[in-house]
Amino acid sequence: MATSNKKRRKKRKYRLVLPWKETAANTSAEIQPGVKKKKKKRKLRFDPRNIRFKKPDFQKILWALKHLRKEVWFAIAGVIALICLITIPRAVETNNLKKLGYDKETIAAIREQKLAKTLIDNQWYSDYLASCLKSKTVNTDYLELYTVIEGEKYLDDTDFLMVNRLRDIGYEEDQILNLYKNLRFVELTPLLCYDYQLIEQNYIDDCLNHPENDRTAFVLSNSYRKPYEITYAADPSKTSMLVNKTWHLDANYVPASLTDLSMQCGAAGTRLAKEAADAMEEWAAAGREMNLAFYAISAYRPYDSQKTLYDNYVTSHGQEQADRESARPGFSEHQTGLTVDVTATGDESKDFSETSAFIWASANCADYGWILRYPEGKEDITGYEYESWHYRYLGKELAQAVTKTGMTYDEFWNLYLKPWSDENNIPSESILANTDWHNLLKEPEPAPAEGEASSEASPEAGQAG
Ligand SMILES: [Zn+2]
Repeated sequence: MATSNKKRRKKRKYRLVLPWKETAANTSAEIQPGVKKKKKKRKLRFDPRNIRFKKPDFQKILWALKHLRKEVWFAIAGVIALICLITIPRAVETNNLKKLGYDKETIAAIREQKLAKTLIDNQWYSDYLASCLKSKTVNTDYLELYTVIEGEKYLDDTDFLMVNRLRDIGYEEDQILNLYKNLRFVELTPLLCYDYQLIEQNYIDDCLNHPENDRTAFVLSNSYRKPYEITYAADPSKTSMLVNKTWHLDANYVPASLTDLSMQCGAAGTRLAKEAADAMEEWAAAGREMNLAFYAISAYRPYDSQKTLYDNYVTSHGQEQADRESARPGFSEHQTGLTVDVTATGDESKDFSETSAFIWASANCADYGWILRYPEGKEDITGYEYESWHYRYLGKELAQAVTKTGMTYDEFWNLYLKPWSDENNIPSESILANTDWHNLLKEPEPAPAEGEASSEASPEAGQAG
């Protein structure tokens, strides 16, 4: 007790004299040991001129530190601990991000986007990811996908739509990463038309063996679909319905409003759904004006007629060849009432592709709502040999959008129009809005394709290759 009182007394002997000008004595901003407190109160007036900086007297400082109160020590320790708590993990985090490959500026952006932990925990880095993080254009729902994008490839909303489509078919995340790491977008869209591939690497290898594949022709060495095995009912309420070897119509489906085609526009007895019939009249009339007359030699075909036709094919050519050239009943587009086989007027004996009417009709069909349904070089996607004469009505807008992408209708429909099997796979509203196929009509014409990579550009936008 005695010693502590003594200490306290000792302490009171010292005081800090601030730069206040004392009216009587000289003052200085220093601790003056040994100066007793003067009893008389003095008037103090602040004068900044009195601030003096002296060389620190370490002995005095040490002495003062030694005699600081416990509470002060605790406060100092607390402040230091707090500073450490804040700065050390931050420094460790910075160091870890640097080790991954991120630079100072990107690290600041990563912190702003609150992604540091995710990136470190998963050890995610790619030059592309870093650049997107830096420019804050990254879609955090697909963060890992950015790590497999290299070279000139890049990601946009169409790629995110593609990822969700692949999920909806049944592909696992690691499979999707593998597909995106190795394939171009032009190689991913056909995959949407095939059966689920348990070993996706086989498909990747096949594509890599055909680097020349692009939107003009797509050839593979193996088949990735067992036609007519896994099948679904098409939705005949929509003009955009897909009918192929996977999507079929009911045996008793007959389109409403079947309309006879005029003599100039269709062979006797040819009929189409009203909307398609009007479009056919318009298209054929425009051709006639150019002196390039053509007409429908076949249009709507009921289920039973298709059955007879297909069975005859099988009898004469065998089933394999029949399946390449003709559709099984229920799987024929002709049953939709939205499809025509055309021939050049007066050149009926020629293959339509050899006529000048074909050149004009195929180049301009989209303006009248039609598409060439089974293009040359796309048999591995459509499942049908090239048919220069077979056209499908989709309506002007949709036909133009499909034509602009250069995709087959199978690819287009599977990417943009297919109903989702699992609602959990539906992408966000903003992705859906940005990838609405109507947007394709607003986009400028694509630059002529070079090499591919990111160059198969604009219309389909999705560019991971
Ligand atoms: Zn046909």
